[in-house]
Amino acid sequence: MQKYDVVVVGGGIAGLTAAIYAAKAGKQTIVIEKQDRLGGRAISNKKHGAYFNLGGHALYKGDAYATFMELGVNVQGNQPSTNGYGLWKGKLITLPANMKTLLTTTLLSWKGKTELASWLMKLAKMDTREYDRMSLREWIEGNLHDPMVRNIFYALSRTASYVAGPDLPAAGPVLGQLQNALQGVIYLDRGWGQLVETLRQTASDHGVRFVTHCKVVSIGVQSGNVQHVLCEDGTKIDARNVILATSPSIACQLVPFAERTALHTWKEQAVEITAACLDVALRRLSKPKHQLIYGIDQTVFLSNQSRAAYLSDDGAQVVSLIKYRGKENDPDRDLRELEGLLDLAQPGWRNELAAKQYLPDITVSHDFMHMNRREQPGPAVPEIQGLYVAGDWAAHGELLADAATASAKRAVQHMLSLEGKERNARYEHRGIV
Ligand SMILES: Cc1cc2nc3c(=O)[nH]c(=O)nc-3n(C[C@H](O)[C@H](O)[C@H](O)COP(=O)(O)OP(=O)(O)OC[C@H]3O[C@@H](n4cnc5c(N)ncnc54)[C@H](O)[C@@H]3O)c2cc1C
Repeated sequence: MQKYDVVVVGGGIAGLTAAIYAAKAGKQTIVIEKQDRLGGRAISNKKHGAYFNLGGHALYKGDAYATFMELGVNVQGNQPSTNGYGLWKGKLITLPANMKTLLTTTLLSWKGKTELASWLMKLAKMDTREYDRMSLREWIEGNLHDPMVRNIFYALSRTASYVAGPDLPAAGPVLGQLQNALQGVIYLDRGWGQLVETLRQTASDHGVRFVTHCKVVSIGVQSGNVQHVLCEDGTKIDARNVILATSPSIACQLVPFAERTALHTWKEQAVEITAACLDVALRRLSKPKHQLIYGIDQTVFLSNQSRAAYLSDDGAQVVSLIKYRGKENDPDRDLRELEGLLDLAQPGWRNELAAKQYLPDITVSHDFMHMNRREQPGPAVPEIQGLYVAGDWAAHGELLADAATASAKRAVQHMLSLEGKERNARYEHRGIV
């Protein structure tokens, strides 16, 4: 039997962040990851000299970025230019991204241009939390008048949130993510796998232990207190605190009688965001200007990430395409749509293809702040002392990787705040939406 102050189950961005904060606070910490390597959905794979993330990833200037800066995690990469196009009625039309393109674009009337410019300025200063209780559609339809300005906001919001439809997402978090996007995103050199490696190194420097290729099968609980973590190979690890940095459904499977805890509500209310992602490495771009495309009447997006990041060893250009989806799922149709966009943006791309990755149905986030949510998940599981959750689904208004880091910090902060207090005290007050 090994003994730790904190056992983190899951070695994705959330688990790694939680482990670093716990270790920095002097806690003996171990991360257990079921895969052969750390990183979860933030891994990168190298194919024929090109680095592919699991679908196009951009680091926003939100919680994750601030967290990495605070932890001294070196984020290597660059901010891409925002000059791009809108895909409208099968044509690529200059997107209004700055003063010059706002003046020259044919997407908008003069009235529309004035309205868009004024809203982008207002957005930068807005307290977006005021709009947490209305849907994105309600906010857009209630505030924006010009139909094309609305369409552009829908397109930008899709890219910021990965949610295809505007009825489910709460407006506040999406507008917050748009605010972050206005400050410029970062594409990471060698993909997010490099970030994972830097997080691992930082954690290791603080004394965190790692076990990979080890699946946790249950959490031992006695008299309402966490006791241990049991792994598939029979290893038992004694634990004062456990942070479940897995999906909500796996968290439920691991905890005995989870249906009697808040975990059950969090799992039941969760709405997954999924996408189809096509990544290609092209030896040459036939249309070098077509680097960034937002679908306006199609729920698609294209970005040449190589314009800002080192993503191949031989100069190939890594272009990421995403199809944002609702419930319907047709991998072949999605692939045809994405390839069609590539035909339009980079004619003849098949002749320049060095490597390709198609992920027809990948989970972008296990949940987010949506209109059917009853509770904000975590940080503590109120019925079991010493049990916490972290992950992109445990969002309290953040999105994607920002939610992963923010929830990880909340879990550790909550744990530390209880120190010195009676261990059986009932303490958690879940945020009701
Ligand atoms: C296509 C795509 C595009 C994205 N784009 C962006 C973007 O542009 N910007 C952004 O901020 N975010 C983006 N994201 C989201 C971001 O990748 C995730 O939010 C983040 O990686 C989630 O981290 P996590 O730690 O919460 O979960 P995960 O990465 O899923 O980590 C969970 C870990 O737990 C492990 N695990 C599960 N069960 C067990 C068990 N029983 N025992 C041990 N280990 C277990 C898993 O193997 C996994 O490693 C994107 C994601 C995808 C898929």
